[in-house]
Amino acid sequence: MRKPIIAGNWKMNNTASEGVELVNALKPLVKDAKCEVVVCVPFIDIPAVKKALRGSKIKLGAQNVHFAEKGAYTGEISANMLKEYGVQYVIIGHSERRQYFGETDETVNKRTLAALAAGLTPIVCIGESLEEREGGLTEKVLSAQIEKDFAGIEDLSKIVVAYEPIWAIGTGRTATDEQANETIGFIRKRMKKVYAGKNVGRMRIQYGGSMNPKNCKGLMAQPEIDGGLIGGASLKAPDFAAVVNYDK
Ligand code: PEP
Repeated sequence: MRKPIIAGNWKMNNTASEGVELVNALKPLVKDAKCEVVVCVPFIDIPAVKKALRGSKIKLGAQNVHFAEKGAYTGEISANMLKEYGVQYVIIGHSERRQYFGETDETVNKRTLAALAAGLTPIVCIGESLEEREGGLTEKVLSAQIEKDFAGIEDLSKIVVAYEPIWAIGTGRTATDEQANETIGFIRKRMKKVYAGKNVGRMRIQYGGSMNPKNCKGLMAQPEIDGGLIGGASLKAPDFAAVVNYDK
């Protein structure tokens, strides 16, 4: 059995005090959640949000991590730095990082290996653009990402994959339940083939892309979908709680 996981990606939103306010509002609303709940916050919010999360089951995540252990990488944050602050999850390879910050499959792979080595759980984002989907290239694009991004990982149950069609992120345009289920089914099948014997059966795959209180029930009812990575709807406590409580 794979335990569903709903993670919020705050992106570059919420100062530390706003973040504390948000999690304080969120805590009572998700206290009976059956799924795993994570908030992935800006680096600078981590200490304050960590403190505010005390006594709740909500887990703390970051939105990026550097692949080197330490050294001359001005402005970067290492996996050990996150670990020492009690961070448990880290988003890697979000399409915004690929688009605006030169993230490549190679750096996604290096960051993922570094996060695992430090004992963090990477949430690795993959997905196709609208052009690629319309050109019938979805499976080809995903297969290439699968081969490069997850190379060298011994136990794939230690990572979470977020399938995020780029055309659905922040656009209000969600993949249909069937599209998301079918594509995630493809990812799992392909990964089982490429990474046979590496525990793919226990690896969770989330859907991400304009998931919200209205569409979460349908998406989460799909057998292949193990959770959601939530952007916009994670910024309001009642909306994020409604997604977390999709089963109520
Ligand atoms: C995301 O940023 O990962 C995301 C899915 O955003 P949104 O929910 O706003 O589409």
